[in-house]
Amino acid sequence: MYDFSKEDPEIFKSIEHENNRQDNVIELIASENIASKAVCAAQGSVLTNKYAVGYPGKRVYTGNEAIDEIDKIAKKRAEELFHAEYANVHPHSGSQANQAVYAAFLQPGDRILAMSEHAGGHFTHGQKHNFSGQLYESHFYGVDPKTELLDFENIRQIALEVKPKLIIAGASAYSHIIYWDEFRKIADEVGAILMVDMAHIAGLVAAGVHPNPVEVADVVTTTTHKTLRGPRGGMILAKAKYADKLDYAVFPISQSGALEHVIAAKAVALGEALKPEFHYYAKNVIKNAKAMAKVFNQDEKIRVVSGDTENHEMTLDLNAVGLTGDQAAELLYSVGIATNKELLPLEDGDTMEGIRIGTPTITSRNFNEEEAAKVATIIVDVLNHPGHQNILDDAKQQVHDLVVKHPVNR
Ligand code: PLP
Repeated sequence: MYDFSKEDPEIFKSIEHENNRQDNVIELIASENIASKAVCAAQGSVLTNKYAVGYPGKRVYTGNEAIDEIDKIAKKRAEELFHAEYANVHPHSGSQANQAVYAAFLQPGDRILAMSEHAGGHFTHGQKHNFSGQLYESHFYGVDPKTELLDFENIRQIALEVKPKLIIAGASAYSHIIYWDEFRKIADEVGAILMVDMAHIAGLVAAGVHPNPVEVADVVTTTTHKTLRGPRGGMILAKAKYADKLDYAVFPISQSGALEHVIAAKAVALGEALKPEFHYYAKNVIKNAKAMAKVFNQDEKIRVVSGDTENHEMTLDLNAVGLTGDQAAELLYSVGIATNKELLPLEDGDTMEGIRIGTPTITSRNFNEEEAAKVATIIVDVLNHPGHQNILDDAKQQVHDLVVKHPVNR
């Protein structure tokens, strides 16, 4: 990074602070990752100076020769990577990708059916505290109370009753493979449009280690910064027949100038994901998550929601440990392990949470299964001994040894 400590010492110092934090913490927040040096360089480039309103060949301002090239490459790579007939790489974020899809397919007051936040759904899928729950009539499905897995017969019954115009599949905290064709069957039976939000698992889909929703859904949204390991941003993939209405829903309905520095960084990340190494990365993300779940499952008090993971994340139920999600996340952070509190599938109180654990970042730092299992062992020790300073000190030392062994590549 350019050293601007003289121009703005305050901000420079804060960035250094964050740099240091990322180096020294074992990052298990499932939605985070470490973008490559090339991704960060593209995002920090001169492209930030250029206004790019509209699409290639149809810009509002002059001077978009290079911008158009980059924009077209990003779109082409997204289409190739996800086998999509159409991609729009302009959404500034996952939320804005979702907003644009709703704008393209729905009128205010239309009914949508999505996974509840408690079961692991995202709040932009119709929660009342988000525009999606205020503009549209939202209904929710959860998970089976016993297995904590999606129950497609139950989802079908709700869909038959609600008759939604749009069904949303996809989650922020669900640790199993999602069988998109089951959603397709339900959507077809009730005449709904099927939207998949694959924000969390896009990298796994790109690498071919999770079924690709693009092949079965009408429209797919994603973020580019989670398992896909790109810059912070969003993207829409769909059948070609929806191209015009989705383009229009992004610009001019929901956005003005495209963030071309971010689009260039998305293109770089998509290029990386097209390489064979990315397949091995994604496979290792899952292997590491499974290695951690195995350790958690051996503890009497910690419960892995649904019993296992098949992807990059899992939620831990800590009720038997006697810690809320907040308390557990704070305690772990005090020894250098970052997690986040997470709602449990069947709870509706404010404090009955667990924590969510994800392996995208540690896998980017080349932690192997043995080391992932070691991290899980540290977590088990810490959560079971909140007041034991010697155990917390020992955990800190073990975290230190692991982060020193696996420096962030920047
Ligand atoms: N969709 C899902 C499934 C998510 O998990 C998230 C973010 O956590 C989003 C959308 C929103 O993405 P953003 O934070 O880029 O708006």
